[in-house]
Amino acid sequence: MQLIYEQSVNGRRGVRLPVSDVPAAAELPENLLRRQSAALPEVSELDLVRHFTNLSRRNYSLDTNFYPLGSCTMKYNAKVLENAAALFAPFHPMTALLPGGVEFCQGSLGMLYDLGQMLADITGMDEVTTQPLAGAHGEMTGILLIAAYHAARGNKSKKKYVVVPDSSHGTNPASASIAGYEIITVPTASYGDMDIELFKKAMNDEVAAVMMTCPNTLGLFNPHIKEISDIAHSHDALMYYDGANLNAIMGKVKPGDVGFDVIHVNLHKTFGTPHGGGGPGAGPVGVKRELIPFLPQPRIVMNDAGQFLLEDQKAGSIGRTANFFGNFSVMAKAYAYIIMLGREGLIQVSEQAVLNANYIKERLKAYYDLPYDMTCMHECVFSASKQLEHGVHAIDVAKFLIDKGYHPPTVYFPLIVKEAIMIEPTETESKATLDAFIDVMIEAAMTAETNPQLLHDAPVTTPVGRLDETKAAREQNVCCIG
Ligand SMILES: *Cc1c(COP(=O)(O)O)cnc(C)c1O
Repeated sequence: MQLIYEQSVNGRRGVRLPVSDVPAAAELPENLLRRQSAALPEVSELDLVRHFTNLSRRNYSLDTNFYPLGSCTMKYNAKVLENAAALFAPFHPMTALLPGGVEFCQGSLGMLYDLGQMLADITGMDEVTTQPLAGAHGEMTGILLIAAYHAARGNKSKKKYVVVPDSSHGTNPASASIAGYEIITVPTASYGDMDIELFKKAMNDEVAAVMMTCPNTLGLFNPHIKEISDIAHSHDALMYYDGANLNAIMGKVKPGDVGFDVIHVNLHKTFGTPHGGGGPGAGPVGVKRELIPFLPQPRIVMNDAGQFLLEDQKAGSIGRTANFFGNFSVMAKAYAYIIMLGREGLIQVSEQAVLNANYIKERLKAYYDLPYDMTCMHECVFSASKQLEHGVHAIDVAKFLIDKGYHPPTVYFPLIVKEAIMIEPTETESKATLDAFIDVMIEAAMTAETNPQLLHDAPVTTPVGRLDETKAAREQNVCCIG
């Protein structure tokens, strides 16, 4: 493919702009004026359209293929949700913040308020802030809320630690550390969850919070979760729920009912809004009543007449954690998603997600090692250790899948599984899609035994082969895709 710069022809153009009525050199200081014209490609509209269309076809997306990336819940993002978000487009985010502006955006504020109420209901919390812009941002907001709670009770200097299991997502200890805590990591037991005896030993009155993902990153629901939260509370520690895996239990268990005090929800995972290359995420945070005074401001509240108002509660609040009300369009899509599915629909989502993951687990466990062989929730974690006997690593299986037209599952995470292959199909995939994927996974396992070189050489169908992934992130050179 020719680069757009290489197609440039002097004087060729795609559009004719109206003659500028801005005075030349309008009020700009001399040192800011451009001395030479910018070296932009000069191409026709058609050249440009072809360039971007061809580039977009090199992008892998959910709209084209199966995307079983574990822990990321890559479910189909229904197009009707985009239409719903577009309804709100006429409202400028400043409207509500201008004097008297609240009156003009009752619908937008009402949507955010209702979404908060619905998320609170789904998670068993008392109030939700929509400000955090992603899951990790929600974690940081949540831990700051917990810190504010302890400080308000005079325990600021006493509380020093946050406890996490060793299966946790890296953002958990990172968020707690940014908020000023030291981390205590508890190992996973043979039953695939935080070792309850080691947890009891790790707990003390200096622990501020216990951060858990339930089901955890092995896709397993913790049978001791109520006991764990009771122990945490007995030490005046709060329970933080990483909601990245909410898709497994939505409508079945409310985290608030098993003792969690603060949660974040990844709307871009569970609630059907795009993420990754598809758009920004959102990580609303829900809290139990005791933590409401510390929530970011302004809070949206409803008065007796049913009007939505902004409450600036200066004292106690941890302050703003994002501009305006967070990623508004993501909220609009999640709101439409919940309304569209309703209570029964959301229950069906989690049931189907769990069924799909177990189907894959059962069909593949004869071919790949399953270190924690039990009923899983929405995702299952294999190890490529059998393949390693033939010199084939998880990364080789992943690259082979690319040649077969699939986005690979998550590999090498969670860290506690050697050669991890973490598969999350989500509920939106049909049995036919799952079967086709399973067949390719079986083919990879067979090929590892008969022709491992083929897996080492993969991918061969992509514009570039294996990249030095660290170097590629640090020294981006997008021209190499040409
Ligand atoms: C995705 C994920 C996060 C972080 O969420 P972001 O929205 O990507 O910041 C945290 N924990 C787990 C288990 C996750 O899967």
